[in-house]
Amino acid sequence: SGTVSSVTQILTKLQKECATPLPVLRHVADSMGNDMRAGLAVDGASDLKMILSYVDTLPTGNEKGLFYALDLGGTNFRVLRVQLGGIDQRVIATEAQQVSIPQDLMFGTSEELFDFIASGLAKFAEKESGEFQLLQGRKRELGFTFSFPVKQTSISSGILIKWTKGFAVSGTSGKDVVACLNEAMQRQGLQMQVSALVNDAVGTLAGAKYWDNDVMVAVILGTGTNACYVERIDAIPKMPGQKSQSGTTIINTEWGAFSTGLPLTEFDREMDAESINPGEQIFEKTISGMYLGEIVRRVLLKMDEAGSLFGSSMPDKLQTPFSLRTPHICAIQQDTSNNLDEIGSILFNEAGVEAKTEARQIVLEVCDTIAKRGGRLAGAGIVGILHKMEDDMKGLIFGKRTVVAMDGGLYENYPQYRNYLQDAVTELLGPALSENIVIEHSKDGSGIGAALLAAANSKYK
Ligand code: ADP
Repeated sequence: SGTVSSVTQILTKLQKECATPLPVLRHVADSMGNDMRAGLAVDGASDLKMILSYVDTLPTGNEKGLFYALDLGGTNFRVLRVQLGGIDQRVIATEAQQVSIPQDLMFGTSEELFDFIASGLAKFAEKESGEFQLLQGRKRELGFTFSFPVKQTSISSGILIKWTKGFAVSGTSGKDVVACLNEAMQRQGLQMQVSALVNDAVGTLAGAKYWDNDVMVAVILGTGTNACYVERIDAIPKMPGQKSQSGTTIINTEWGAFSTGLPLTEFDREMDAESINPGEQIFEKTISGMYLGEIVRRVLLKMDEAGSLFGSSMPDKLQTPFSLRTPHICAIQQDTSNNLDEIGSILFNEAGVEAKTEARQIVLEVCDTIAKRGGRLAGAGIVGILHKMEDDMKGLIFGKRTVVAMDGGLYENYPQYRNYLQDAVTELLGPALSENIVIEHSKDGSGIGAALLAAANSKYK
């Protein structure tokens, strides 16, 4: 019938527009490299901000002593302490705690928010048991992971550009967030100071490199996405005259803002236009966990409107933005039963629609199309970074084992996405080079990574 064929037409068109054959992947990888160079040359010259992290001392394994980490990135903050025993003993003990942030503090003053955090930290620090030993005469040192846009000014200072993710705290914009925290800790009478301010991707890289010295890149694929990597100081024109003992530093690419050469559809354009940040974060909107489910929902809604995909139901929920989330489309892809019953119940529960077996099959193909494009483009981005690094460090990337540390709920939980990402990397690099490149999950490395960076950048060295 006519309706069936219009559903099929939409699917065929979607698959065609989302296709990522090798030439598309190559173009994306090359563009990533070019945009990285442009961002390293001049601030503001590229979609990629290529932010200097001021992290040029990475953990080696020799770090010793007691260090703290604080992770503030959403509606919770996490505190952690770790006792480091040096190259042989490594991590002797860790303890962590999570505290949720009361809603009203997200709209209060800067002092109120930082006082709340410092008081949580102080309570946590009080409960230090015998396994944790501060060296005599020292203040406790803290690595501070702050996942909001910051203009970093040194390893232990950075100016808040703006609050995001629902925070609207007054009096912090333009201020040094490290000073805000240090002052709050002082008000609490807590003997602790921030030694490192780190982005979560940078923390992941540091945490992974502590265990495996071949780690050179870290990628976060969660609600959002970001990547950072080890760069040579003299390959950063916008940072003239700077020195680092290692000759290298970590660059935070903020690659979610990348946009060149991506295969996009009407569904992506409409989602972007209706988003709170139209025209921004296009790569993030194509590959990250916040958006994959929403893209699928938009496709299914159009299929239902134009071709009655779900028959005569009243798809109120299907019309609600973000009703279908990435964990749902992931669960849809795990259904291997004959009748696709699990898909049927997810669609019923989450989208309010009844789907016959043929419709379930179509839904599965839509999910696969969107996850495949996302995973493969993320893989192309990684290869873009690796090629750029190899160009400036001949033989130091492809000539040896090189590890890309991955973290984030999307990468961790979505096996098809992960496989598509790996496929794209292997296709782009070819069999010989890809043998040396290891894409590896580094679970929750960023918390301990921040503590390790506090150790590696200790004020007492
Ligand atoms: P965040 O990125 O918010 O700091 P995470 O790294 O834990 O935190 O990522 C959470 C995100 O991971 C969710 O927003 C979701 O998009 C994605 N995710 C979580 N669980 C799954 C799942 N089972 N399948 C696919 N994606 C998932």
